[in-house]
Amino acid sequence: MAASATSKNRVIIVGGGPVGLVSALSLALRDVPVLVLEGYHELFKDLRAGSFHPPTLEVLEPIGVTTKLLDLGIVVPRWQLRDRKEGVVGTFELSLLKDETRYPYRLHLEQHKLTPLVYDMLKPIPHAEVRFSCRVTSVTQSDDGVVVTADTPNGTETFEGKWAIGADGGGSVVRKSAGIDFGGFTYPERFALVSTPYDLGQRGFTDTAYISHPVEWCAVFRLPDVKPPGLWRFLYGCRPNESEEESLSDDNVEERLQAVVPKQGRYETRHKTIYRVHQRVAETFRAGRIVIAGDAAHLNNPIGGFGLNSGLQDAMNLTDKMVGIWRGELDASALDRYVRQRRTANIEYVQEASMRNKRTLEEADDNVRKQRLDEMRKASQIPALAKEIVMKSSMIASMRRANAIA
Ligand SMILES: Cc1cc2nc3c(=O)[nH]c(=O)nc-3n(C[C@H](O)[C@H](O)[C@H](O)COP(=O)(O)OP(=O)(O)OC[C@H]3O[C@@H](n4cnc5c(N)ncnc54)[C@H](O)[C@@H]3O)c2cc1C
Repeated sequence: MAASATSKNRVIIVGGGPVGLVSALSLALRDVPVLVLEGYHELFKDLRAGSFHPPTLEVLEPIGVTTKLLDLGIVVPRWQLRDRKEGVVGTFELSLLKDETRYPYRLHLEQHKLTPLVYDMLKPIPHAEVRFSCRVTSVTQSDDGVVVTADTPNGTETFEGKWAIGADGGGSVVRKSAGIDFGGFTYPERFALVSTPYDLGQRGFTDTAYISHPVEWCAVFRLPDVKPPGLWRFLYGCRPNESEEESLSDDNVEERLQAVVPKQGRYETRHKTIYRVHQRVAETFRAGRIVIAGDAAHLNNPIGGFGLNSGLQDAMNLTDKMVGIWRGELDASALDRYVRQRRTANIEYVQEASMRNKRTLEEADDNVRKQRLDEMRKASQIPALAKEIVMKSSMIASMRRANAIA
């Protein structure tokens, strides 16, 4: 990839994950020179996210990413809320959103299929450079630029630019360098993600389903993998006192999957991974010429599939404003609007909804649980109420809230 590696006149993006690469593409397509510094030696094959909500498909449309995602992904027009004992509590139809969005569905596609396609789109752009094996250690700034220091195969290198975008994930060095606090909490239990070729569709499961249980709640999703019917992923909370090895032992995983969907014979599993999960929002997403986005700025539990989606929505909101600044059409205060819009949407919707989703699935008090599930059952049968729920679960409500903030 050709590069203007020595020019200071560029935006430096730390992190070549989905948020960093999409930010780079969005800027580079509008003639803003970019340098992406990625710590790993190649694109990281991340198994975490797998769902794209309607507003994300909308914002990625102008940079040509949405059509490519649609070619690869599975269209998911409905999701179920289930109870482990009673079965289906309610089915929520995303077709209720047909007058609100061009994409009235969820699209399921592995996160690690997004990054290569964005990287391929960046490659022919002469003013876009992606450097691997460059682990950033600090970012400093002056009135007119930033200096990013990284450990690289050539030793310690420094890179100058006009702005720095921290898209370097939850442990963000950029956020720490800028002295931005990251308040919130970490769940005591870890979350397991297990995939199997066993087709839950034949057992009446929709391609996204949430299964309530006071101890062993679970969520399942179908992802494309290499060919239909794809792979089904189980996401569940591990028992708090188990070690990682115990949680992911074959027998333990088998027991957890059989408890959700009993079947004859053992489950064949393809991937088993375990994650620490947090609810955190940075105190600000901007410090002068340093701006953060995606997991660097906020973290939430995966129930509802909001993390990557909100990160990609950040990336497009931020880069739209950065392009305006680059062209002299906006002043730097536009970035404060980015912070107001995206931070508010995250706090009011993403944090709130992801924590509420977890509480609904795991409620231990039988009466409260029954009441919550009854409310959801009723709502699924009344189109106006069901629409209110899918407006939130599909992130349309949070996107509208963000965009309305001046
Ligand atoms: C179990 C699980 C399931 C999930 N499922 C979903 C889902 O269905 N839908 C959804 O929307 N979200 C989901 N998420 C969240 C989603 O995976 C993340 O929100 C998303 O990966 C964030 O993207 P990002 O680009 O901000 O950060 P990351 O994906 O973490 O990328 C950061 C990049 O920066 C690089 N990096 C880090 N430090 C440095 C450094 N110092 N120098 C240079 N490079 C660096 C890393 O190598 C990485 O490539 C899930 C999360 C979990 C844990």
